Amino acid sequence: MSENQGPKLENTSGPIAFQTEIKQLLNILVHSLYTKREIFIRELVSNASDALTQMRFIQQTDREILDPSQELEIRIEVDKENKLLKISDTGIGMTGEEMKTNLGTIAQSGAKAFLEAARDEDPDLVDIIGRFGIGFYSVFMAAEWVKVTSRSYIPGEQAANWFATGADTFEMGSADKLDRGTTIEIKLKEDALEFAEEIHIREIIKIHSDYVPYPIYIGGDENQTNRQTAIWRETPRSIKEDQYYEFYRQLTLELEQPLETIHFVADAPLKIYALMYLPSKPDRGLFTLRGEDGLKLYARKILIEEYSKDLLPPYFRFIQGVVDAEDLPLNVSRESVQATAIVNRINKILTNQVVQKLNGMASKDQEAYLDFWSKFGHFIKEGVASNESNREELSSLLRFRTTTNPDRWSSLDDYLEHMKPGQDKIYYILGNDESSVSRSPHLDYFQTHCYEVLTLTDPVDSFMLLGLREYKEFSLQNVADSDLELPDLPDGKEEEVEKDQVDPLSEKDINELISIFREVLGDKITEVRVTDRLTNSVARLVDAKGSLGQEMQRVYRMMDKEYQIPKKILEINPGHPIIKRMNEFPNGSELIQTIIEQIFESALLIEGIHPDPASMIPRIQKLMESALLQE
Ligand code: ADP
Repeated sequence: MSENQGPKLENTSGPIAFQTEIKQLLNILVHSLYTKREIFIRELVSNASDALTQMRFIQQTDREILDPSQELEIRIEVDKENKLLKISDTGIGMTGEEMKTNLGTIAQSGAKAFLEAARDEDPDLVDIIGRFGIGFYSVFMAAEWVKVTSRSYIPGEQAANWFATGADTFEMGSADKLDRGTTIEIKLKEDALEFAEEIHIREIIKIHSDYVPYPIYIGGDENQTNRQTAIWRETPRSIKEDQYYEFYRQLTLELEQPLETIHFVADAPLKIYALMYLPSKPDRGLFTLRGEDGLKLYARKILIEEYSKDLLPPYFRFIQGVVDAEDLPLNVSRESVQATAIVNRINKILTNQVVQKLNGMASKDQEAYLDFWSKFGHFIKEGVASNESNREELSSLLRFRTTTNPDRWSSLDDYLEHMKPGQDKIYYILGNDESSVSRSPHLDYFQTHCYEVLTLTDPVDSFMLLGLREYKEFSLQNVADSDLELPDLPDGKEEEVEKDQVDPLSEKDINELISIFREVLGDKITEVRVTDRLTNSVARLVDAKGSLGQEMQRVYRMMDKEYQIPKKILEINPGHPIIKRMNEFPNGSELIQTIIEQIFESALLIEGIHPDPASMIPRIQKLMESALLQE
């Protein structure tokens, strides 16, 4: 059916059958209603660009070449009246034999992968086509027929024609093209006439092929349409600060300058060019061009993906920029093993670069780093929480408030420097806010003995701790753990502490008091016992051995508001004046009962788990009244 539809070929070969897989592919493409079929232009331009690059290589050898002084360029012309679109290049071209093989008898890997996916997925293909670089044949989404005329760079080779309508066969013939390169002439389908509009072609080139490394001329315009110089491919030393900002602005339309620019070229194990930016704030601006997270991914300057989310780990999703990978085949399916392996390797390289940059910032310019930390710290915490290979480097980027330096940000390395002799753990306390944490009974021992404790009050800290169990071989230890082993004090210190605890209660008195506590509190607690950990506080709540850690309890509570914190153990301080005075009151006195309730609820409050703090007011008033009565 094809013979009569198109222009007449000279010395035609008669119909030649396409290879089976190409037939299947064509059959799908010809009937496809894919909305983004403009990608066929990207594919043709990218083929032209590859042909030009090969030409450039050959020019550097001393082989004989047809038209050696011919510019390396791409030209696109439209003829609205005749519904034609023409794309020409001055690349290496093809001989008749090459055309026959390349455009008819060998199915490219992309085509195969596409067919496999098409077999398994939704038959309407809305999404599949865009995910695969299906190459040259994608033109049949928009073409009634296609005629390729090509002349190889090899002097003496004849020009040839190739012609197809998207049916099962193609034809070949001789041509009288005099200059080197390939011209693809497309007769547009009735419903694809937008591709005969110069303005539309210009837009498409801007979006998909702006950085193709050869000039693209459209129509009679002798100004090239594409930007061509891809700043990320230049050597970092040659780029000035304001060029970086300018590019950032073009990329994002953000008005504020980025906090940092990361530009590098990696040669091994992969050739990649990357230009990344740390934006000035975590939220995208109102007028930003970037609708989603992710980096722009190019393969040899051809845009492959606008928002590639796999190039960096999710916790670096705030980073903007472009990555250009030399080894990423345009037409390889995204899901293919090869593509996944390359993307994983790129991810590793980029992550390392970002972490290094941040570490460099932290050591060179503290102020800038703390500015970053105040805005993006929770992303770093998220990174530490997720099971990551970069955990140690990420952990060194963390900043904390601590009991001894409550107004400064300290790193874990700062903490290690302040450790006392014999200390082998990094202590932390979890809480809702700095001020209640600073009054926590769990800190008694550590404050008395001047141990530094990290105060963690950010809701994501509990998540972070799930991933941060040690740093540089020191494990992290929650000071609220009931079975915490205390550090050995330097010689002699132990006795001094003993001496401070003036006349502790006798065992008998204590046991009596404990049973009153148990009676009053009933099943609000699992146990009452004495502890030697407290100095200034009357009592504290700790978790029963084997119960869920405090971090997990907080994580659960954040994820499920209904989550019930498990009952705790009340530990009392036998040396505290209140406890000692209580012992002097008659058993079962109402005042003692009220005091016990208040001790328990104060402990709940300081843990940040009191369900209704205002309910304590009547009791406190009662206590005030009885205090006044004693006067
Ligand atoms: P791919 O480009 O991914 O290999 P295509 O189906 O797009 O797959 O193209 C098949 C082959 O045809 C290319 O590999 C190339 O050898 C040849 N080809 C396509 N377009 C051109 C062109 N403009 N100039 C020279 N050769 C071309």
